[in-house]
Amino acid sequence: MPNNQHLKQIYKIAVIPGDGIGPEIMDQALKILKAVEHSHQCQFEYKELLAGGAAWDKFGKHLPKMTLQECQNSDAILFGAVGGPADAQDSPKWQNAEKNVILGLRKHFDLFANLRPIKNHETCNIEHKTRVDFVIVRELIGGIYFGKHKIMKHKTHNMKQGFIAEDIMRYSSEEIERILRVGFLTAQKRQKRLILVDKANVLETSKLWRKIAENIKNDYNDVHLDYMFIDNAAYQLAKDPKQFDVIVTENMFGDILSDEAAVWAQSLGMIPSASLGAGTFGLYEPAHGSAPKYTGKDIANPVAMILSAALMLRHSFGLENSANIIEKAVAEVINKGYGTPDLKPRKVVGTQEMGDLITKAL
Ligand code: NAD
Repeated sequence: MPNNQHLKQIYKIAVIPGDGIGPEIMDQALKILKAVEHSHQCQFEYKELLAGGAAWDKFGKHLPKMTLQECQNSDAILFGAVGGPADAQDSPKWQNAEKNVILGLRKHFDLFANLRPIKNHETCNIEHKTRVDFVIVRELIGGIYFGKHKIMKHKTHNMKQGFIAEDIMRYSSEEIERILRVGFLTAQKRQKRLILVDKANVLETSKLWRKIAENIKNDYNDVHLDYMFIDNAAYQLAKDPKQFDVIVTENMFGDILSDEAAVWAQSLGMIPSASLGAGTFGLYEPAHGSAPKYTGKDIANPVAMILSAALMLRHSFGLENSANIIEKAVAEVINKGYGTPDLKPRKVVGTQEMGDLITKAL
């Protein structure tokens, strides 16, 4: 047998299982990666790291320096979820855990583009069996969430004490251009239809987004660019999601639209995401949180986590073929009627069995 060892490319993965169902679903994604590694010409080096409540217990911090440093030494971050139960949010262990970790990592690595593919399957139980397959490209580290936030006292018209609150939405042309280009490139790899969602009838920032889109669209002649106001986009997404191929939008609009879109995939447990910067480095995580009430019950859906690993292979490692194989295996298992309870499938299986079935289908 020829020795192909020398052909193997080694990829370093920072693995952050996190809290709640994070470790359980991460185990399934690692199973899949091991199977991919076994049969394809690649090798993964894993570094397991702490973040969130798990890191708090050991270091008294949600995002320890060591975790950041090890992420820096990796080619990509595979992330489960962090955060604690709703009734414990005031305890220091859980307070701001999600914000400290997720926003901290996004900012630190300048991960400005969030890709969220929304896709459902033949056996999906949603009404009318509408098949959807589109991607939301969301700007991730700018806009109103990262603008100045202020609250000021003021006198009301009847001279009583009142307040004025202010949140600033701000975008520079460079910030807009780089995310728009991700939108165009994403559309180029799909059906070449890009919709910029904005509120250009009211907001200056949106007008600037449109101006820049017009300036650069000729660099992507094969992509058809269209515009839609956010209010109409929310309506169209609920009414006729099949019309969308790629949506590109600013931070807050993308946040809202992607949760709305999750309904079409039947469960939050089905939606992966990729957060990307200028290079190939990225953070890959399911769209959902740590679902504390599901923890340790072997009922959490591992699909979003597994599909996030597939996105990592595609976007950070350029292993398109391996990513496609994982996505096909997931579709095959679901279309055979298997699924965790959130999918209300014909054949209910647990988290681990779902991972095993997908591994077998690879
Ligand atoms: P959540 O996404 O954890 O759960 C909401 C609901 O969605 C669950 O009750 C469950 O019904 C369903 N769900 C989520 N993931 C699922 C899966 N894999 N399989 C089946 N069903 C699933 O949101 P939440 O309850 O609002 O937040 C819980 C904790 O997670 C909080 O502490 C929050 O701060 C944190 N959180 C973390 C992240 C992150 O780490 N990126 C994101 C969102 C929320």
